[in-house]
Amino acid sequence: MNEEKKHLAEATMAQIANEVAVCHRCLLHHSRKLAVPGEGPVDAEIMFIGEGPGFHENEQGRPFVGAAGKYLEELLAKINLKREDVYIGNVVKCRPPNNRDPLPDELAACSDFLERQIQVISPKVIVTLGRYSMARFLPNAKISDVHGQSYRIKGHLVVPMFHPAAALHQPSLKISIERDFLNLPGLITKASEASIIKEEKPPEPKSEPTQLNLF
Ligand code: URA
Repeated sequence: MNEEKKHLAEATMAQIANEVAVCHRCLLHHSRKLAVPGEGPVDAEIMFIGEGPGFHENEQGRPFVGAAGKYLEELLAKINLKREDVYIGNVVKCRPPNNRDPLPDELAACSDFLERQIQVISPKVIVTLGRYSMARFLPNAKISDVHGQSYRIKGHLVVPMFHPAAALHQPSLKISIERDFLNLPGLITKASEASIIKEEKPPEPKSEPTQLNLF
């Protein structure tokens, strides 16, 4: 991204953040202290998409700053990345009360903000963290079946992973997410070789995906 494009991208991201800060599109604005639009370089190669702000994120207006965030930073360090190197966002930008799962109308209300952020950043790789973020790209997938695999969707390489908060509490998920992270550098290289990547057929519907409360 050249300097001129970067300035423009930063201005657009700031505009999105301003809109998010005063958004009343769904009822989550009632429980919001600070909205959490997301953060990171506008020219990031990797974009992580989590679910929604928890207690600490709502206090600070920044994504992944609690226990899950600390673990995400450890995972990034395993592949020689710092959080400043990647973009980190969420499917909903305001904290659901008591960290409950986001509701369909809340996901829908926030969807356009995330779409615009993806357009601006145009990341090589999108890593979805958890079930709700995965469902945006792979609505019929079961996370235990598809985690760590890559799917070319609308020009992005999408890699679903377990949510770090879930992995923190379940040893088997921890092993999976750490293994999936170690594969990320190879997938970024694969994403650069776009011509050899085929458009994946999203998985057929299976049973309702289940996952622990993530916060
Ligand atoms: N969990 C998320 O999904 N997102 C955050 O920002 C923090 C915790």
